[in-house]
Amino acid sequence: MQYDLLRFASVLILSLFIGLLLGYPALCVIAGLIFFTFSQYKELRQLYAWLQRRQDSDSPNQPGIIDDICREIDYTKNRHRVRETKLTGYLKRFQQATGALPDAVVVLGPNGEIEWANKNAQGYLGIRWPQDSELRIANLVRTPALNRYLSSSPDEDSKGLQMISPTSKEMTLEIRVTAYGETQQLLVARDITNIVRTNQMRKDFIANASHELRTPLTVISGYLESFADDSLCPMEWLSHIRQMRKQTNRMQNLIEDLLKLSSLEARTINEDKELVRVPDMLNTIMAEANSLSGALNHQLELVVDDELYVYGSHYQLYSAFSNLVFNAVQYTPAEGKIQVTWYQDKSGAHLLVSDDGLGIAAEHLPRLTERFYRIDKSRSRERGGTGLGLAIVKHVLANHDGQLVIDSKVGEGSIFQCDLPAKIIVSGLLENKTASG
Ligand code: ADP
Repeated sequence: MQYDLLRFASVLILSLFIGLLLGYPALCVIAGLIFFTFSQYKELRQLYAWLQRRQDSDSPNQPGIIDDICREIDYTKNRHRVRETKLTGYLKRFQQATGALPDAVVVLGPNGEIEWANKNAQGYLGIRWPQDSELRIANLVRTPALNRYLSSSPDEDSKGLQMISPTSKEMTLEIRVTAYGETQQLLVARDITNIVRTNQMRKDFIANASHELRTPLTVISGYLESFADDSLCPMEWLSHIRQMRKQTNRMQNLIEDLLKLSSLEARTINEDKELVRVPDMLNTIMAEANSLSGALNHQLELVVDDELYVYGSHYQLYSAFSNLVFNAVQYTPAEGKIQVTWYQDKSGAHLLVSDDGLGIAAEHLPRLTERFYRIDKSRSRERGGTGLGLAIVKHVLANHDGQLVIDSKVGEGSIFQCDLPAKIIVSGLLENKTASG
């Protein structure tokens, strides 16, 4: 700064001195100022040319303010370089870490465009990085379920999406998407082929074993029945035969429930979708419940919306609803009250099965729908329970996009609520019938 002032003063004094000598002081001062301005402009041009080169060439060697600017720029450049090296290091380590992940990771922009993908994204989803950068994932992975999943709010769907890999039919993927930053989404695809295969083997094993056990048990049960009916059968054998029949019956129920569960797992609702006349179904179930109650003389009450039908599986819904009603009969003492209500509201169709029976302690509620989970094993066995009933109910409702909600208090009774979505409701059939009739 000081140097520049000195230079300016020298030019001014020198031009004034020459002007005085020549007799034109004002003219010479103006000429001196023009010269000074021009030389400053030249230095600025050199600085600009140096900045434009953007290379590590030496800065223009101009003393004064230009030199100060150059030094400041050099300092900022160096600081940037250090930060850049640091960031490149972080990025490299992050890429190495995500590259080492066994999962595919894809970063998506606000419109589903690919902002980054790791190495496994190519093998699992066919997304190449960096070639597919900025392309929309919907254009690359043409799986409708994935696009539906991405356009819904995947964050709310904790289950994730299971789908066949677009690169190999043999591979099953589980997709999870998490929102992060302001508008970005992180998609993680996991190879679950082995889990799915093992699960299928387990299901097949249970289904096959149950199926194989069914025929011998029917034969044994048949013989036991004829022994019991045979007048030549010694009296002392009769109580043993009764016990054997009870146990074979239990095994048959168990096998039937296992087969039911297997078929529920294997089937989807779409395979046997039909109009289900739930009010008629509930009337049948209540009649059966009445005969099951027998001498226990429960007070059974049915409140139904007669026009409320659904599209679903008759077989599956009958299994679920009858399980709940028969459980209420089995776990409610004599003369107890059991109420079944079938109604609809804005959220969908609902079945409520409430009783004033034994009730269930809060700690058991979350586990009730697990297979073979029973609060009191011996009591359940004594009542002919298999411990599979509520697992069947849960599966049936899941197949219909519904859910089971259980509310209960020990000693006060229980409410089992089945919620079915509004989309499967078919109502107003009675009006149509009357109108056309
Ligand atoms: P189970 O064949 O043993 O009845 P479920 O899966 O149908 O098997 O039911 C699981 C357990 O839930 C039962 O063992 C019983 O303890 C309890 N439970 C089911 N329904 C009721 C009910 N209405 N009242 C009290 N407890 C019930």
